[in-house]
Amino acid sequence: FIDKHLPKNKLGLSVRNYEGVMSTLCAGCGHDSVTAALVQAFWELDLAPESAAKVSGIGCSSKTTAYFMGQSHGINCVHGRMPSVATGANAANGDLNYIGISGDGDSLSIGFGQFAHAIRRNLNMLYILENNGVYGLTKGQFSAAADYGSKSKKGLANDQMPIDPCVQALTLGAGFVARAFSGDKSQLIPLIKAGLKHKGFALIDVISPCVTFNDHAGSTKSYAHTYKYYHPLVHTDFVAHADEVTGSYDADGAMRVTMQDGGELFLRKTESDYDPRDKAQAIETLMMNKTEGEIRTGLLYLN
Ligand code: SF4
Repeated sequence: FIDKHLPKNKLGLSVRNYEGVMSTLCAGCGHDSVTAALVQAFWELDLAPESAAKVSGIGCSSKTTAYFMGQSHGINCVHGRMPSVATGANAANGDLNYIGISGDGDSLSIGFGQFAHAIRRNLNMLYILENNGVYGLTKGQFSAAADYGSKSKKGLANDQMPIDPCVQALTLGAGFVARAFSGDKSQLIPLIKAGLKHKGFALIDVISPCVTFNDHAGSTKSYAHTYKYYHPLVHTDFVAHADEVTGSYDADGAMRVTMQDGGELFLRKTESDYDPRDKAQAIETLMMNKTEGEIRTGLLYLN
């Protein structure tokens, strides 16, 4: 169905042509906002749906691949094994835009080794990790990304330290590392566009609230509580923002970074930004993030 009244991209397609089947996730789940951002990013980049290959593992997050670009290639893989399937598909056809969707359970527990080696091999793909700290599909057990001391729905406190996927990706050699919040599409969409343009492994760790099993405010009556918990912690003005992948962005203080495909990435700078090509600064930022309990989002590292 093509809505004649919606604007078209250079391929003559509207955003509706980039949608998939209707979501069956809980109302208010952060993952649906990631889906909407993916639809918008692919549409804005004028990428044909059939130019994409969607790969995912198991979990609420991994259902996302069904919800965008119904006309593209896609496979829902075995739990934690999505990077292996992406590696094989990449070897068979390197011309597609590979996009992996995973969760913190799928990537940081059963699939942790796969995640690490996909980065080491510098697999050419955009890897989106929808991170909510719980196994939503199996009713809310702590994942390896759960905050220390956070409470489960039954009131139990998590007594293990979380794994930070961005720190792991940086130390394993990823050339593009970003963190975003599903409640901020103005930052998430440009980051997805930049990640799709990056040649090599690109990680975007998206803080994506589970409104059913990870209600940090202590009440399960309203999903708004989960977003209220995150909003004061999320700082989008600290780290460089990816404003445009290509184009003529010319704001004061804009910084230009040349991408590996020859395109340019324009970054809006604020007083406290650092050069995202400085890995030590990126790691220091994430460490500060841990001690101060804040969530710094944006493009953390680009090489
Ligand atoms: Fe989303 Fe949590 Fe519901 Fe799964 S259980 S669909 S992660 S809100």
